[in-house]
Amino acid sequence: MVEVRQARKSFGAHEVLKGIDLSVERGQIVGIIGPSGSGKSTLLRAINHLETLDSGEVWLDGVQVNKTLPHRQFEKHINQVRQQMGMVFQHFNLFPHLTVLENITMAPMLLKKSGKAEARALAEELLNKVGLIDHIDYYPSRLSGGQKQRVAIARALAMQPKVMLFDEATSALDPELVDEVNLVMKQLAKEHMTMLIVTHEMRFAGEVADEILFMDEGVVVEQGPPQKIFSAPEKERTRGFLRKYL
Ligand code: ADP
Ligand code: MG
Repeated sequence: MVEVRQARKSFGAHEVLKGIDLSVERGQIVGIIGPSGSGKSTLLRAINHLETLDSGEVWLDGVQVNKTLPHRQFEKHINQVRQQMGMVFQHFNLFPHLTVLENITMAPMLLKKSGKAEARALAEELLNKVGLIDHIDYYPSRLSGGQKQRVAIARALAMQPKVMLFDEATSALDPELVDEVNLVMKQLAKEHMTMLIVTHEMRFAGEVADEILFMDEGVVVEQGPPQKIFSAPEKERTRGFLRKYL
């Protein structure tokens, strides 16, 4: 579903991604861990082309995301591609002047030309899923951080994406609000949503992911099933990192 080949990216003289390869099967959940500054966010952002790679390829379901096209055509192409990827960031970025319902229905109505009733029905279904149907007419300012993040997930899901990208979705939350958001991700995992999850919560990563990828200084140091990475890591760098976090 997602394939990254030899991704390289520098900011000035600082090479942040040094030839990353990554492959995510349909329905697979890949957890990405690694120290701060190792390039995790840059990698996720490169997957939906919020960052432009210096070299390398990104593919989504058989379509090259970063293919070379004349400017106008590329804009059209990338907009189409982005509609198929849901992204949830650390900060919720809900539209403050729109209700929960409007936040969720806006993109489907605007970009997918969904009718109002159809968009609302889907929003209701998703709000039921994330446990917030009672809050459908609230404005974001009335929601807790955990609730906002669950709305952000529902909003991303409303575009019926092929893959969901989570970048430390819970790291800005008060500790008591983390579980309600993680629970939604676990629910999606059960429904076989393809997901890339950047997290610093090792226990959660171990519970939700099929595959763990440990990044450090722009390279994938080690990758494998959670049992292996967390219980019997092969590389000293992985062991050093886990000693600090487990
Ligand atoms: P992580 O998410 O693993 O903490 P990032 O991908 O955010 O790492 O950042 C990797 C490195 O790239 C860091 O050193 C960061 O300072 C740098 N970096 C990220 N974005 C930019 C940018 N837009 N301009 C300059 N440097 C950046
Ligand atoms: Mg980051």
